[in-house]
Amino acid sequence: MIRNLWNDLEGTFFPESALDHMPEARLREVQLQRLKAVVALTYEKVPLFRERMDAKGVKPGDVRTLADVRLLPFSTKADLRDTYPYGLFAVPMSEVVRLHASSGTTGKPIVVGYTAQDMEVWKQVIMRTLYAAGFSRSDIVQNMFGYGLFTGGLGLHGGLEGIGATVIPISGGNTERQIMVMKDFGVTAVCCTPSYFIHLIEMAQKMGIDFRKDLKVQRGVFGAEPWTDQMRQYIEGATGIKAYDIYGLSEIIGPGVGAECHCQDGLHIFEDHFLVEIVDPQTLEPLPDGQEGELVFTTLSKQAMPAIRYRTRDLTSIDTRSCACGRTVRRIRRISHRSDDMFIIRGVNVFPSQIETALLKTEATLPHYQIVLTRKSGLDRMEVRVEVSGEMLQDTVGAMDALQKRFGHSIAQITGLTAEVTLVQPGSIPRSEGKAKRLFDKRNEG
Ligand SMILES: [Zn+2]
Repeated sequence: MIRNLWNDLEGTFFPESALDHMPEARLREVQLQRLKAVVALTYEKVPLFRERMDAKGVKPGDVRTLADVRLLPFSTKADLRDTYPYGLFAVPMSEVVRLHASSGTTGKPIVVGYTAQDMEVWKQVIMRTLYAAGFSRSDIVQNMFGYGLFTGGLGLHGGLEGIGATVIPISGGNTERQIMVMKDFGVTAVCCTPSYFIHLIEMAQKMGIDFRKDLKVQRGVFGAEPWTDQMRQYIEGATGIKAYDIYGLSEIIGPGVGAECHCQDGLHIFEDHFLVEIVDPQTLEPLPDGQEGELVFTTLSKQAMPAIRYRTRDLTSIDTRSCACGRTVRRIRRISHRSDDMFIIRGVNVFPSQIETALLKTEATLPHYQIVLTRKSGLDRMEVRVEVSGEMLQDTVGAMDALQKRFGHSIAQITGLTAEVTLVQPGSIPRSEGKAKRLFDKRNEG
């Protein structure tokens, strides 16, 4: 059973060394053992999975190598909705010690469960995440991820306690108070969404607080939404901190699936717990390492809700080059877009991250923007609203026109599309306290 396999490694657990540096042959051996166990467990306990396996004529015993994962059926978010709330659980509720759920903006939320052992694994993968980003027991950490049903707040919290850091469980919101706490409590590290941190940077400026002089923050882990390298440069440049990307999703465990190390060159996946594949999102055929496609995970140690070949909708590729940090677990490229976020305008596929890159390439912009799609006389129009700084608004009309043109040119260069650029007043685009909403598709309205 999974429990025994896991205990086998538990005794040797040193998060900053052993598991992230396991010799590759041993790592693949651990993965295979666990894959066989998780497939057997899921086949036995989860009717939906068993039906799909039977329909394909595949039995758990057919999984003899890691590549045999390809024999297994895929799963998607729709499966979680269809079996709401507990249909994909593989253990009785008496074994489940924690539930989390997605925000469920459309329809029912998705529900995920954890056994006591799942909670322990979660804590450990978050500890590995934090160690990779240079966090330690000497840090005073302001955790601004939302606490509650969302996996971000409590997920990070467990790992922060695990490494012995001082945690401030402040959750999101009340931005002015966040800055006060950051200053008065001597905060050295932060956790939140990148878009919320941008908001904090701005609020600090408004309050006359200089990140470099008045605050002690040195590093942060940022996640729960895709963000670009340009956004990182902006955050690091404006504050002097090191900004690390983290990756996770509730359906797999929450945060703690992958993390950047000090090289900031892709995210190491904790492969002893998560088997990673990249597939063509259309044909679902496996793609070779290095090629971009949809990220698919099979959980290798989850008990309460194992995921088999779960399609994340996130687009990336596997990087097999060895990392200068010495970790042997492989990396994926940073995720700058999700297939769900893509929009098609005048026949061209566009991701919001491309617009962000274009805006940040043009000098002197605050990365607050919205993309508004409308349709007039059957023609799609893309408007990009960009906030400019107060001083810039005092600029001459000519200078503003020139700036607008530069934005438009940059967007055209990256997407091949013309956009109508509107410069808007500072503070006029609503700030998010969690994940930012960038895209407003009004093409089918009125
Ligand atoms: Zn590394």
